[in-house]
Amino acid sequence: MSLFIKKIGIDLGTTNSLVFVPGKGIVLNEPTVVAISTTDNKVLAVGAEAKEMIGRTPETIVAHRPMKDGVISDYRITEAMLRYFISRSAGSWRILRPDVMVSVPAGITSTERRAVTEASVRAGAKGAYVVKEPILAAIGAGLPINSASGNMIVNIGGGTTEVAVIALGGIVSWASVRVAGNKIDQAIADYIKKKHNLAVGERTAEVIKMTIGSALGEKGKEDSMEIRGRDLLNGLPRTIVVKSNEITEAIAEPLREIIQAVKAVLRETPPELAADIIERGMTVSGGTALLRNLDRLLTEATGVNAAVADEPLLCVAKGTGIAIDNLDAYKKSIITRR
Ligand code: ADP
Ligand code: MG
Repeated sequence: MSLFIKKIGIDLGTTNSLVFVPGKGIVLNEPTVVAISTTDNKVLAVGAEAKEMIGRTPETIVAHRPMKDGVISDYRITEAMLRYFISRSAGSWRILRPDVMVSVPAGITSTERRAVTEASVRAGAKGAYVVKEPILAAIGAGLPINSASGNMIVNIGGGTTEVAVIALGGIVSWASVRVAGNKIDQAIADYIKKKHNLAVGERTAEVIKMTIGSALGEKGKEDSMEIRGRDLLNGLPRTIVVKSNEITEAIAEPLREIIQAVKAVLRETPPELAADIIERGMTVSGGTALLRNLDRLLTEATGVNAAVADEPLLCVAKGTGIAIDNLDAYKKSIITRR
């Protein structure tokens, strides 16, 4: 293996960003957060270091989540992130500039994706390529996206759910909703507030989701956990026990919105490809794919078998690495290059 890193794949996610280097695997996995100084508008920190600053920094520092709703809200901040990822994984004293593949939301405009390739070059890339995120998720999940038959991917991250049917390297039908892990956490916090008069933070809500959350109610054995929060009536700390079936009830609404997006894409899919999908089923990727029983819920709600991808949190990053390492094989999927 070469001493120099020549190819880098970057998954800019709404909550986590990952860097994949062919031959090495995931070399970086950090929160998508950038800390900015409000006095001189300077980038102070990126990733884990920036996240650490949230809540414990003076008012002159603000933490941005530049990919909050699955769209790139600030290109200067995005460029700072790309620079950090490229220099951290390729080394800041590198002699050769690497080729970089960046995942972008499927709904991005051509101006926006040109801005991403420009930012990548300014951040130190030699060649910069962008491919839509659902395609990369499908590649990373091992789906044969270049075949003539239809492949369906449901990528559910923190901020957005992107659903796509892919054939011959391109997206045939597609939908994106701003409902995913974060909205599920919010729904849990809202439910506990309403039902138990207890205020819990987003972080606690996320832990509850990961520990006892389930997309479908379970009969018989039911998990429960003790949680601490602040009593909304007297303001004092209080401990309660929440049960798994309560959480299922709490998160039903955001899950319903995700199901609606999946159904919308199934309805828009041409009959020939729909037949392929009924036969092969849909693949679920992204961190929220790990929510217990989500695959069963999707299968029951749509009548199409849903299976969780291997290492769902890593699919998009793996896809960027595979695509940058096999540019020729995936050239039909590259929407912008520089
Ligand atoms: P993004 O690509 O938008 O950055 P990710 O694919 O990294 O998002 O997924 C992050 C989301 O996955 C978060 O909302 C997180 O709470 C959720 N998540 C991670 N692990 C689990 C789990 N075991 N169960 C349920 N949700 C999970
Ligand atoms: Mg992602």
